[in-house]
Amino acid sequence: MNQPVTSKPRGRQFFANPGPTNIPDSVLRAMDRPSIDFNDAEFVEVYDAAFAGLKRVLRTSQRIFMYNASGHGAWEASLTNLLSPGDTILVLESGYFSDEWAAMGRSHGLEVRVQPADWRVGVDIAALRAALAEDAAHTIKAVCVVHNETATGMMLPLPDIRAAIDTTGHPALLLVDTISSLASLDFRMDEWKIDCVVGGSQKGLMLPTGMSFTGVSDKGMDAHARAGLKRFYFDWSLMDKRPQKSFIGTLPVNLFYGLRESVRLLEEEGLDNVVARHSRLAEATRRAAKVWAGNNGPQLFCLNPSRYSDSVTAILMPDGHDGDALRRTVRQRFNVSLGGGLGKLSGKIFRIGHLGDLNEPMLLGALSAVEMALRINQIPHGRGGVDAAMDYLSR
Ligand code: PLP
Repeated sequence: MNQPVTSKPRGRQFFANPGPTNIPDSVLRAMDRPSIDFNDAEFVEVYDAAFAGLKRVLRTSQRIFMYNASGHGAWEASLTNLLSPGDTILVLESGYFSDEWAAMGRSHGLEVRVQPADWRVGVDIAALRAALAEDAAHTIKAVCVVHNETATGMMLPLPDIRAAIDTTGHPALLLVDTISSLASLDFRMDEWKIDCVVGGSQKGLMLPTGMSFTGVSDKGMDAHARAGLKRFYFDWSLMDKRPQKSFIGTLPVNLFYGLRESVRLLEEEGLDNVVARHSRLAEATRRAAKVWAGNNGPQLFCLNPSRYSDSVTAILMPDGHDGDALRRTVRQRFNVSLGGGLGKLSGKIFRIGHLGDLNEPMLLGALSAVEMALRINQIPHGRGGVDAAMDYLSR
């Protein structure tokens, strides 16, 4: 019998989730240390090095504020520090995460306009330009963009969005969520004139969840001086008075040892090479998915090739087949963790995360598990997806 003899998983779990992501051994070792007073000179040195490193990863020389919080905390900080009750923001619809950021804005008393988009195609830049041009009174105070929509596997073109704002002469702030793009996809805070960057620890930075941050431009700091939304824990002015010029409360010291090491790893590889590795692994994943799409099999969710995400690929199940059942097979039979569909895509798609500390065999392991589960669950598909990925990767 060619059946597993035990249900106990052995070997490493292959983690192909779009966040959190694999944590490199050297980062785990860097964090494995006793507590230290965060005012101790030994720690301050680590803090300063990690902080400066994060600025280089963001490609900024401007301000950063950090939080003991997951990405939601940095979202909340971006809105409450920059805006006042009743202000209008324009959220570019991309998927579940743009919807959530918009919902947070409404709950804080902001007037939220949505630039609508088909989740499989993404926002139309000409329509965005027209919406900004129409706003002659400059009612819109901020444009909010999720750079890489983790829920759909789509990346939005930030330079084009920047250009749309500039060509209309609109003064709105540009707020960008880089939670699943930073340290994976090309991102340039200062060059692309982003006023507020939202980021988190648990994806491209290869750290545990629990620390998030915002990069803020000088224009953003000016807006902060006038912003009237209520805040305390995330208040940049309060943080500015603290010795570390960031954080309210106790610092997550172990995460800083990890961050210093993860920045070292990223810079040892070279940020451009990190981006190129992600693009290569993503293309291999898409080659596999395009083969699986044969015989009316699962399809790439993103229909816009110029916007394919290089950190996560979402795959739409054929009608009548459940993405979560496929994920269960992959998890129980092969100890591979995949992402599921969020919100209205629940059960309809599954997501392969290919970001962070990942190489070819790790990716191929995950792709093979998916292909085996397609067979086990008797889901129609084209055979040979992993072969196509190998062809591409062995060139
Ligand atoms: N924005 C994006 C693009 C995300 O992918 C996530 C989480 O996956 C969030 C925001 C929310 O971050 P968190 O779950 O860390 O609060």
